[in-house]
Amino acid sequence: MNVDQIEIEKFSHNAHHWWDRNGQFKTLHDINPLRLDYIDRNAPLSGKTVLDVGCGGGVLAESMAGRGAKVTGIDMAEKALNVAKLHLFESGHEVEYLMTPVEEFARTRPRHYDIVTCMEMLEHVPDPQSIVAACSELVKPGGHVFFSTLNRNPKSYLYAVLGAEYILNMLPRGTHDYAKFIKPSELAHYCRNMGLEVEDLIGLNYDPFDRSYSLGRGDVDVNYILWCRA
Ligand code: SAH
Repeated sequence: MNVDQIEIEKFSHNAHHWWDRNGQFKTLHDINPLRLDYIDRNAPLSGKTVLDVGCGGGVLAESMAGRGAKVTGIDMAEKALNVAKLHLFESGHEVEYLMTPVEEFARTRPRHYDIVTCMEMLEHVPDPQSIVAACSELVKPGGHVFFSTLNRNPKSYLYAVLGAEYILNMLPRGTHDYAKFIKPSELAHYCRNMGLEVEDLIGLNYDPFDRSYSLGRGDVDVNYILWCRA
């Protein structure tokens, strides 16, 4: 199975902090409005069927439901899914949460979703290409797929590993393994191999001085979103 149990254990272990806006998952909360707007602008969410792969505690999944999408969230960290389900009582949103490997799910719901999102997950799996393949099977012809992950170069090592985990303590140490970071060219190649057409590439940048995030077309050196169409 294309699942790294050590990674899953890390996310399960910390799951109760998922909705703590200033806790270990603060980064996901901070970037969420930006990525949500980016998705909604390019693939309007209202009334669409959406699959969020590696949804964790449901930060993005819930916010997409809030924009009127019919959302399914899948993950392999059971505790994160339990937190996501509990949070629905608080928010009043509706999301279908399931624990299933994405490759298996692709066999049960092929070409089912208008939009598939897979954010900040590819850098935690043994075989990211297989995840891309499954996402391409789950999306309807003409539908949209959004991936986000970390680029691999000296700057991303400095920002995402040394800076975020060791200097600024924004993430728990050991969150990211540099060797698993993926260059946009590699991810685009995986997508094209599966018949997905790359529409856009945009950077998600952190400014350590004013502690803010922004979307930037010029800088995809650290975190980036790749938007594709089936
Ligand atoms: N996508 C969410 C959470 C990112 S954290 C967001 O951006 O807000 C990474 C998530 O990927 C965790 O919830 C982890 O459990 C999940 N994950 C890691 N490997 C996975 C796999 N092989 N299959 C499904 N989920 C996985």
